[in-house]
Amino acid sequence: MRPVTEHEVRTSFINCSKGEAKRLGLPRDLPDRPWEDLDFLGWRDPGAPERAYLVAERDGSLVGIALRVTSGASRAFTSRSMCSLCLTTHTSGGVALMTARRTGEAGRQGNTVGQYLCTDLDCSLYLRGKKEAPGAGIVDESLTVEEKAARTRANLDSFLDKVANG
Ligand SMILES: [Zn+2]
Repeated sequence: MRPVTEHEVRTSFINCSKGEAKRLGLPRDLPDRPWEDLDFLGWRDPGAPERAYLVAERDGSLVGIALRVTSGASRAFTSRSMCSLCLTTHTSGGVALMTARRTGEAGRQGNTVGQYLCTDLDCSLYLRGKKEAPGAGIVDESLTVEEKAARTRANLDSFLDKVANG
C-alpha cells in the first residue's frame, strides 16, 4: 500500500468516535513502515495493549477500524491457531480473537464482529516470508505470494464489510 500520514490514519476510522481516533496511539515507526510489503497497516496501540488497529485502502480511500484484543489465554499451550486473514498458523499467543464494534446503529447497540488475527497484525509480512511464525508457518505453500496477498485482501474486505454493513 502507499505510505500514509498520521492525519490520514486518524481520519480513516469508521467504527470509533472522532475523539477516540484523535487520541489513539499510532505506531512509533509510522513513516518507516515497510509500505511496499503491506497489504494493510495494522498495529497494536503502544500505550494500550488490549487495543489494535487496522487501516486498509479501499477504492482509493482509507478505511480504518479499531479492534479490541481478547486474550487467548484459555487456549491450551500446545494448540495452534490460524489467522483468518493471512491463514498463517501460529503456536499459542500468535493469534488472538479481535473484535470490532460495528458501525451505525448496530454498533451503538453494542454489536461487534470478531476474527482471529495475527496478534502483531503483520499478516503482510508473514505471507511474504519477511517474518516467520515461530514453530509454525503458512499452510498452503503452493500459492504464490501474489495469490496469498490477494486472498488476504479478500478476507480483509469481507471482514470490513461485516463491520460496516453487518
Ligand atoms: Zn495474519
